Amino acid sequence: MRRFDGDRILVATGNRGKLGEISALLEPFKTQVLSLADFGLDEPAETELSFSGNARIKAHAAAQASGLPALADDSGLTVDGLAGAPGIYTADWAEGGNGRDFAVAMTKTWGLLEAMAEAAPRRAQFRCTLVLAWPDGHDDVFEGVAKGQIVWPMRGVSGHGYDPIFVPDGHDETFGEMAPDLKNRISHRADAFGKLVAGCFT
Ligand code: IMP
Repeated sequence: MRRFDGDRILVATGNRGKLGEISALLEPFKTQVLSLADFGLDEPAETELSFSGNARIKAHAAAQASGLPALADDSGLTVDGLAGAPGIYTADWAEGGNGRDFAVAMTKTWGLLEAMAEAAPRRAQFRCTLVLAWPDGHDDVFEGVAKGQIVWPMRGVSGHGYDPIFVPDGHDETFGEMAPDLKNRISHRADAFGKLVAGCFT
C-alpha cells in the first residue's frame, strides 16, 4: 500500500454530490482537491461488471490524463430482494429521455419489490469502492458498505441519488432526511474512506 502525502489530489467524479462528500472527507488532510472539470476531463465509459473494475477505470484514466494521484469511486445500491440489482446499473435506472431522474429510479425499485411481494424489511446495501491510482500505474482499492432497508414513500431532500428511500441500520431517518455530516460519518463512502485513510493517509 502506498502512502499519500502530496499537496494535490484529483477527485475523479463528474457527480457533484459525490465530489462534495469526498471533498468534505478529505478536508482534514489539507491537500488541495481538484476535480475533473479543473482539467477539462470527462468520466470514461464504465465497461467493467463490478464496482471495483469501474472505479479502477475512472481512477487510472484521471491519473494518466492529469499526472496527479487520482481518487475515484464507483458506488451503487444492491437490493437483496432484487438479486443485487440495480448494482452497477444504479445510475442507469435513473436515465430517462431528459437526463437522470432519481424519482423514476426509486419508483422502479419500489415497484419491483412490490411486484415480488417481498416481506419487510426489504434489505439493501449501498456499496462503494474507492481507488487511489497513481500516474505510474500503481493503485490501492478499498471497499465500503452501508446496510439498511428500502422504505416507501420517499422521504427527505438532502443527499442525492436513492437517499430518500434508504434507512440505514440503527437509524429511523432516511439518508435523504439525515443531516449531511451524520450521513458522511456512517455512509458506505465513509466506510471505504476510513480504510483508505488507514491504508494511505496515516
Ligand atoms: P456511479 O458510481 O457514478 O456509477 O453511480 C452510482 C450511483 O449510485 C449514483 O448515481 C447514485 O444514484 C447511487 N449512489 C451512490 N452513492 C449514493 C449515496 O450515497 N446516496 C444515494 N445514491 C447513491
